[in-house]
Amino acid sequence: MDTARRISDVREHVARYRRAGERVALVPTMGNLHRGHLTLLELARQRAVRVVASVFVNPTQFGPGEDLDRYPRTLERDTQMLAAAGAALLFAPPEPEIYPEGAGQATLVQVPDVTGILEGSFRPGHFAGVATVVTRLFNIVQPDVAVFGEKDFQQLVVIRRLVRDLCMPVEIVAGPTAREDDGLALSSRNQYLDAEQRARAPRLQQALQAVRRRALDGDRDWAAIEAAAAATLTDAGFVPDYVAVRRAADLSMPDGDDRDLVVLVAARLGTTRLIDNLRIRL
Ligand code: AMP
Repeated sequence: MDTARRISDVREHVARYRRAGERVALVPTMGNLHRGHLTLLELARQRAVRVVASVFVNPTQFGPGEDLDRYPRTLERDTQMLAAAGAALLFAPPEPEIYPEGAGQATLVQVPDVTGILEGSFRPGHFAGVATVVTRLFNIVQPDVAVFGEKDFQQLVVIRRLVRDLCMPVEIVAGPTAREDDGLALSSRNQYLDAEQRARAPRLQQALQAVRRRALDGDRDWAAIEAAAAATLTDAGFVPDYVAVRRAADLSMPDGDDRDLVVLVAARLGTTRLIDNLRIRL
């Protein structure tokens, strides 16, 4: 596996793949890789001969007071994991390579509608940061396909909208959420949890499963279902930001005919904010 720190190096490697007629996939990450990231790499390998993985803790998607400074950075280990997983190229740029004028002076990409709700209302500016860095990475790598995790379900919806609106010639592939045996979705932020919080964390996924059961049993009173799930989480020691049942396609409110739904949750355990979601197909 090659490692590139500069955009010009990435372009050279990718030009070489292109001359050989090889398809290129991109898997963007913020590093501190776990099994969930590796499942995305595997999906990427099924779709392209050459897989480029990026590791970049993107400052523009963190709000003031969020965990940008303490976000775990483990590039050496990530490099080994990516090489073992069969990536062709690791792109690990220093910040000025992505934001030459500084992160505060970046040209931002604003996706409407779907960025102002749920995560977007609790993390203002977050999705502009995501759309901005993904646009840059797509322009740098110019992949045929890019793989993102369903773990960040709203992010996936935002990226699909971004790609459609800006006519980006990139196929977006979604990878299922990798979980611990007890149901907790793998996340770099899980390591912020102490032992007692970690033991309680699977309640998040359990609350989502209870929502799905009620929906499959025919209950359509989403407000009551959401409130009950939030109350369960509060009883379990979480501070929920939201529990929301939405249409999977665009995260708008479901109406009577909708069959493809998703329930999304964000809740804090101590100072750690966890998100998860579960698809509901009626
Ligand atoms: P991150 O490094 O957290 O920015 O995540 C990079 C990519 O990995 C994103 O597309 C995430 O949605 C995805 N991802 C994170 N956690 C998981 C997981 N548990 N299972 C599958 N994909 C994940």
